[in-house]
Amino acid sequence: MKNESHAELAHALWPDAKQAPVKLLECRHCGRRNRVQVSRAILDPHHCECGACGEPLFLAPGEPLTGIASSAYEHPLDRTTLAALKGIPGFPTLIRWVMTQLGERSLRLLNLSSAVLCGDDQFPELVALLERSRQSLDLGLRPTLFLSESPHINAATFGSEEPWVMIHSGLLDQLDDTEVVSVMGHELGHMHAEHGLYRMVAVVMASGTQLLGTVGQVLSFPLQKALYKWMRCSELTADRAGLLACRDLGASLHVLMKLAGGSRPGITRRTKMQLAPFIRQARTLAKLEEDNWFDGLLATLMTMDSSHPFVAWRVMHLLEWVEHGNYLEILAGHYERAKRPAAA
Ligand SMILES: [Zn+2]
Ligand SMILES: [Zn+2]
Repeated sequence: MKNESHAELAHALWPDAKQAPVKLLECRHCGRRNRVQVSRAILDPHHCECGACGEPLFLAPGEPLTGIASSAYEHPLDRTTLAALKGIPGFPTLIRWVMTQLGERSLRLLNLSSAVLCGDDQFPELVALLERSRQSLDLGLRPTLFLSESPHINAATFGSEEPWVMIHSGLLDQLDDTEVVSVMGHELGHMHAEHGLYRMVAVVMASGTQLLGTVGQVLSFPLQKALYKWMRCSELTADRAGLLACRDLGASLHVLMKLAGGSRPGITRRTKMQLAPFIRQARTLAKLEEDNWFDGLLATLMTMDSSHPFVAWRVMHLLEWVEHGNYLEILAGHYERAKRPAAA
């Protein structure tokens, strides 16, 4: 079923058009600052031109974000929680232990033995979607793609030397191509921001603590909690990468809404999922967390043992970045670049 038109999406996001923020953006061609309406720039960036030189204000669809550094879109919560995690006594030892016990090679072997390896002669259409994401983010690394049979909307990435992306088949049933590009961009964002190693540690810890016995579990408890907290925050960075890869806010929001409610035939046959009420739901959550410390605490407690944050929380943070963060600056070509551009 077709997603909303620009006008419908704009109305879902900003029911009162006057509330849509305005930004000053510098033209990358002539340097003139342009006053742009965030709603128009986000929903229809390819029709925004500089008032002085007439050149497009934003990069063309799919144009690579040349040399972009992951720090350009890293969520501050991701940065601070990872710094806190690294500061925990014993963490460097744990990293060394995980690397010696379980290199990324063994996880790759697991995929080779249980999932389908994609390539030129196997699901080339899926490889092309990954390539679209990779080129938009101008990533030098070329991860291997695996497809795994599972009814759930899910994907994962691991590894740093020979990285790979795994997507679940259920995701392909429920998402359109642009939404798949957003999910793949999300995974590539984890890779670009070098989340792989720490995420691998979390996976090993989750299975390893069962083998350690009660004492080991008690000792590793604070570390596991800190690791999970960082993992939840790292999702916010990856969501931004997903949006930068597909450059379609509606698609990124639909992915999150489908993660929360699914988009199975039983639903789509009867009705159409509406974005506007879901955005209202996320904004209600933001307000509750802001106004009432108890709801904020409850939300924290409820997600403490989870590696993924609440979906509405992710929507809330993505919208916040799009409206008030540097999303549009990045699309206008103003962003932090990696010191050494990644080699192709
Ligand atoms: Zn200009
Ligand atoms: Zn993720």
